[in-house]
Amino acid sequence: MEIFFTLLNTVYVREQITERTMDKLKNDAQIIGEVLKIQKSKNYHDILKILDTRYTILSMNGTVIYDSKNYENETNMDNHLYRPEIDALKNEKQAFDIRNSRTLNEKMAYYAITIEDYSGDRIIIRTSESFKSQQQEINTLFLLQVFFFIILDLTILIFYRNYIKRSKRKRIERMREFLEKGITMEDEYLSDDKWLLNFWFVVREWQEKNLLNIKKLNQEKILLNRLINSLDEGILLFDENLDLITKNSSMNFLFHKDSKKYLEVINNIEIIDVLKECYQSKKDISREIYISSLNLYLFTDAKYLPDNEQYILTLKNISQEKEIINIQRKFISNVSHELKTPLTNIKGYLIALEDAPEELKVNFLNIIKSNVNKLENIVTDFLTISKLESKIRVNPSKFTSESLLKELETSISEMAKKKNGKVVYEIEENLIQMVTDFDKLLMTLKNLLENGFIYNSSKNPQVKLTLHEKNEWYHFSVKDNGIGISRDKLNNIFDRFYRVDEARTSNIAGTGLGLAIVKECVKTLGGDIQVISQPNEGTEFIFRIKKLTI
Ligand code: ADP
Repeated sequence: MEIFFTLLNTVYVREQITERTMDKLKNDAQIIGEVLKIQKSKNYHDILKILDTRYTILSMNGTVIYDSKNYENETNMDNHLYRPEIDALKNEKQAFDIRNSRTLNEKMAYYAITIEDYSGDRIIIRTSESFKSQQQEINTLFLLQVFFFIILDLTILIFYRNYIKRSKRKRIERMREFLEKGITMEDEYLSDDKWLLNFWFVVREWQEKNLLNIKKLNQEKILLNRLINSLDEGILLFDENLDLITKNSSMNFLFHKDSKKYLEVINNIEIIDVLKECYQSKKDISREIYISSLNLYLFTDAKYLPDNEQYILTLKNISQEKEIINIQRKFISNVSHELKTPLTNIKGYLIALEDAPEELKVNFLNIIKSNVNKLENIVTDFLTISKLESKIRVNPSKFTSESLLKELETSISEMAKKKNGKVVYEIEENLIQMVTDFDKLLMTLKNLLENGFIYNSSKNPQVKLTLHEKNEWYHFSVKDNGIGISRDKLNNIFDRFYRVDEARTSNIAGTGLGLAIVKECVKTLGGDIQVISQPNEGTEFIFRIKKLTI
């Protein structure tokens, strides 16, 4: 378009300039013609000296008669008959031509016309003028136009590119904003830019997939974290240089929080040794460790993960298992000891029975019988305690406090009678319905009430049972007026096989397991127990158990 316009405009301007030049040359030639028509003299030089245009007068055969620029040298000039503007006069009255002059070696405009001079001879008048400046003018104009259009195009290009860039950038930024906020952008916003709209669809689809994946990953991460943190075991993951990658929150007391290097992270030399051994041998190492300052047994396990050159360290607190093993060991030795005494007695009296005189036999038999009873009691208590320990499920039932007391009364009546003692009940009036494990509660109360009579040297032994409910608890108190317990023994009375002072009591059937059973029962019923006592001031057991539901 621009090239076409430039060419058209250049052609038009050239036409105008050419026409102007031709008009001038024509005008001059006509003036010369008019002068020559009336002038007899052939002294053209003098007649036409006022004209600055170059003009040549030629005969019809092309001979130069006069040339204003080659005055008196005309005879040396070529015949002009075949110069295009002269040649054209054969058919035309006037002729115009623009060409390179052979003699002057520059672009010239020529105009030629035939006229009759004053004598009636036909002659040719040719005017000419340099076309150099006009040509330059045309060239300059052409160049100017080309330059103008180049500048214009460049400006438009820069402006357009900037505009497009800015508008695209603005849209892309808006897209980013929408993506970041997770808002669905109106598709109409991009409807005028198909390319961008398609791009937007692709990005959005991609983002939706990504968001879904991120969501899934996050959920999995949360789940995994929750899982790892819910473990009781301490888990630590180290990289190939034994720098900590991650750890769960268990056993934090064994580690320094803000460190990365394994030597700084772990604050126990034995655990460090396990990890270091695994690191050096590239083999799994596990070891039991005892941390005396914390009275803690740990099972420490370091594993090498060859695929990603990592090390995983797990620490398991096995103190409880260790304690159970210890308790079991102690229990077995206690049991053997406890069984041994009555068994030795039985064995001894059985041997003695064979040769014993008749009057002692009954006595011996009674001793054997009471030892057998003791054996039976021990075995019964063992069974009870091991049942409780094996965490037999609590069996809640609904009953009234009245039915509980009735059953209790029956269970201990024999003992109370024997001791000539009495039980005083102080029950909250409005307490009618109870929900708990009837048998376990009965066993607890029976043990405590019996002890209240057994360890009692008062003339009028009395045990007072108090019961009330508060919030989600049933509160009990069993208080006697017995011999009491000294302060230094109070901490031990709930231990298995612990008996304060065998010589103090006449309870040879006692096993030292009664209060251990009580404590286990109360614990199983979701409660706790404590004791208040002083020698000769009586003893009070206070405990509470949780209200259960069925
Ligand atoms: P046992 O009665 O079979 O000896 P227990 O576990 O019931 O075993 O009691 C442990 C010890 O606590 C008893 O040997 C006794 O010395 C002391 N004891 C328990 N109840 C009372 C009490 N009401 N008054 C004083 N001493 C008690």
